[in-house]
This record gives sequence, structure tokens and C-alpha cells, in this order.
Amino acid sequence: MKPVIALVGRPNVGKSTLFNRLTKSRDAIVADFAGLTRDRHYGQGRQGKHEYIVIDTGGFEPDATRGIFKEMAKQTQQAVAEADVVVFVLDARAGLSGQDHEIAQYLRRLSKPTVLVANKAEGMKDGAQLSEFYELGLGEVMAVSAAHGQGVRSLVDAALGMLNLPEPEEEIFGDDDQRPVRLAVAGRPNAGKSTLINTWLGEERLVAFDMPGTTRDAITVPFERNGQKFELIDTAGLRRKGRVFEAIEKFSVVKTLQAIETANVVLLLIDATQGVTDQDAHIAGYILESGRSVVLAINKWDAVDDYQRQMLERSIESRLSFLKFAPLHFISAQKRQGIEPLWKSIIQAHRAATCKMPTPVLTRLLMEAIQFQTPKKVGAYRPKMRYAHQGGMNPPVIVIHGNSLELVTDAYKRFLETRFRKEFNLVGTPLRIEMKTSH
Ligand code: GDP
Ligand code: GDP
Repeated sequence: MKPVIALVGRPNVGKSTLFNRLTKSRDAIVADFAGLTRDRHYGQGRQGKHEYIVIDTGGFEPDATRGIFKEMAKQTQQAVAEADVVVFVLDARAGLSGQDHEIAQYLRRLSKPTVLVANKAEGMKDGAQLSEFYELGLGEVMAVSAAHGQGVRSLVDAALGMLNLPEPEEEIFGDDDQRPVRLAVAGRPNAGKSTLINTWLGEERLVAFDMPGTTRDAITVPFERNGQKFELIDTAGLRRKGRVFEAIEKFSVVKTLQAIETANVVLLLIDATQGVTDQDAHIAGYILESGRSVVLAINKWDAVDDYQRQMLERSIESRLSFLKFAPLHFISAQKRQGIEPLWKSIIQAHRAATCKMPTPVLTRLLMEAIQFQTPKKVGAYRPKMRYAHQGGMNPPVIVIHGNSLELVTDAYKRFLETRFRKEFNLVGTPLRIEMKTSH
């Protein structure tokens, strides 16, 4: 499971600037999806082989008169508690303040791996000016400049270095067929996740196995259905109790993110009686960002009238437009309506995510696409696409090689995407197209 880094510090020290630095690589990939709502407090990043989740605890504003704990937003406090490592951000120019001392006191009690950083340290001489920060009793302080990107790599190294992370497994390209489909059911509290899962687990066609030992990592329930192996991943707000799943009250963004990351396919359950809420759109955004396949199910379809149905279809169109590639189902978990077709979509989405796209086929498709519509000239140059190969799975990545490819427009990329999707029947999975220019 991906480690979680929480950024903590009083307002104005540069947390969101640092957050943007730490999540930049992923941002670039998903930037051009229309309608994508992003929760700017949770993001994902990668350094070298290691991927991580970052939380910007913007709400961490200690108020001396009312006590730091009361003032912390509940989600923020929970997020810090769930984080693997805390990055405590200080302002190298402003020096220590009373608020810094309060936060330090809170963090010392938390006894969680903590990295102390003095931000805005560009152009400052090492050492001397930072010595006062040792007063906080949290160890070494690292000088960084979030605005200029200085020291940020070392910061990530230090943060991840405290965690004894195992080397990430190399993505095995090929023999996925026998592996179980890792399925996560995500959604807001009360969307009907446990009702749906228990309906499934009660099915005759589904052979549930006993749960092996639980670890800190995802709790999964293995089962088999019509010969296909699955692993159901425990999601935020869900816990297994004996043979059934029970909803627990707390919703945790961190757990949701981790479950999404662990899954191959995410079934996103939306409560029809509530419409598409901000939280739904955020979860959908995380799924897209992590590249997982997704199946959308609008639950409690039995409990809404025609007018509500129309409104709902419209809000799916407008708020979840970036998930157009996802199969959409209208179901009632409680009345067991529309449940069976979900399986077909889940399996199809998994197949699409792990589909193999041979270089000759990709290159032929690319050539046909160019013949059909040549990319536009920009100034004196026209992008020249030469060949394409597959660069990854789950999500599938298509890498196009050629010259002046930075000139390929987003509209042209979408045109290519549509053709690739059609040819390989890529339903339910995000698809990434990367351009590699050789000069
Ligand atoms: P937050 O409230 O902790 O999230 O802080 P912000 O990221 O919004 O930054 C507060 C202010 O500090 C902004 O004006 C930033 O441009 C500035 N800032 C952030 N990082 C740096 C830095 O490395 N050097 C300098 N000089 N200013 C910075
Ligand atoms: P969870 O928090 O996502 O696990 O949601 P639950 O499965 O606990 O369901 C929340 C509430 O919605 C419960 O009272 C369920 O009985 C109800 N519910 C679940 N599915 C449906 C459905 O398809 N139709 C209706 N009308 N109610 C449902």
C-alpha cells in the first residue's frame, strides 16, 4: 500500500506550495480532463520507484484560546493520525512562533515519524539561521524552498526513508490471466456498499473463502464466481464481521485512496437519493488519477421518482463527464435489481485494464489515424509520429514516438484515444497516451 505523507504547519508557511511540488508529476497526466473536480487536499506523487499519497492539512489552524484539538477539523485530525509520516513545515524567514510550538507539542505526543522542514530557505546560508528550530525537540531540520523546488527531493527521500518501505514490485507484464481481479467498492457512507456486498456474498454462484490473517494492509475477501477469481478489498467505512460486511461510521479519505490504489477495478456506488455530491466527484477524481478501471453504479434506483432520475442523469453528465469511459448501471442493491450485469462490466473493465496491445497493431492504427487526419502544422513544424508501443497496464499506456510531438494538440490526442479505445474495446479503463519526442 502506498505510504501517506501529511503536511502540517501553521497557515502561510508554504504547505500548499509544497503540496503542488509533491504532486506535480501526477497532475500533468490528468490535467486535460474536462469536468474533473479535484480535492486539493489529497494528491498523489511519485519519486523514483516510490509512489506516495500527500495530504495538505490546510485546516490545521491551532487557536490558542480554544485549544488546538478542538480547532482541528475532524477529517484533518483523522488524516494526520492515518498518515505514515508527518512533514512539519516551518517558515525559515519568519522563525518560530507560538503556533509552531503548539503544533510541535501535538506532534511529539503523536509519536509518529516526523520530518521537520524550514521552508522559504532559498538563498539562506546553511545552518546558522535554522538553529532555533532545534528547540522544538523534533530532531534535524531540513532547509527547503518549495517555491524554487530546492531540497524537495531530499525531503521526500527523508520522509520515505523513515518508513522502511519494501522495494516496489516490478509490474509483471503478461501472466495476469490467472491472477484474481482485485475489486474495491467505493462510495460515500450510506451509498449501500455493505448492502450490495452482502447481497453478493449471499449468492449461490459466489464461493466465498475464509479470510486469511489480516494485516495492516488491505483486508481482502477472496471469492470465486463462475470460475473467475476475485479479491474484494475492504474499503473506507466497511469492515468484515464474520460472514457479512458492516458499515462503520467514519468515512476516511485516506482509506478510500489506499483501497483504490490497491484495486484493479473500482465499483463506485452513488446514492440516487442524494445525487452526485462533491464527495462522489472527488472519489471519482481519485480513481481517474490513480488510473484504475471504474464501473459506475447508481444505487437506490427503486427509491427515486422520474423527476429525480432525470436530474440525476443530468448531474452524472455534468459532474462525472471525465468518466465517460466507465460503464454505467442503475441498480437497487436492496431489491437485488440490476446486480447481475455489474459482473459483466467488472470483468470487462479488468480485461480492458490489462489488455495487451502489440507494437505492430498500435503502429498500424497510428498510421491509419494519421492517414485519416494529419496532425496540424504549428508554425513551420508538423508533428511526425513514427510508431507506438505499450508502456504499461492498469491503466494501459500507449507511448507514441516521433518528432515535434509536443505540438500535438489535445484535440488530436482525444481523436487518437477514441480510435485506440474502439480497436481494443477499452471500456471502463482510463487510457494514457504519452508522446516521446526524439530530437
Ligand atoms: P500555506 O498557507 O501553508 O498553504 O502556504 P502557501 O503555500 O499558500 O504559501 C504562503 C506564501 O508563501 C505564498 O505567498 C507563497 O508564494 C510563499 N512561499 C511558499 N513557498 C515559498 C518559498 O519556498 N520561498 C518563498 N520565498 N516564499 C514561499
Ligand atoms: P454503506 O454505508 O455504503 O455500507 O451503506 P449501507 O449498505 O449500510 O446502506 C445504507 C442504507 O441504505 C441502509 O439503510 C440500506 O438499507 C439502504 N439501502 C441500500 N441499498 C438500497 C437500495 O438499493 N434501495 C434503497 N431504497 N435503500 C437501500
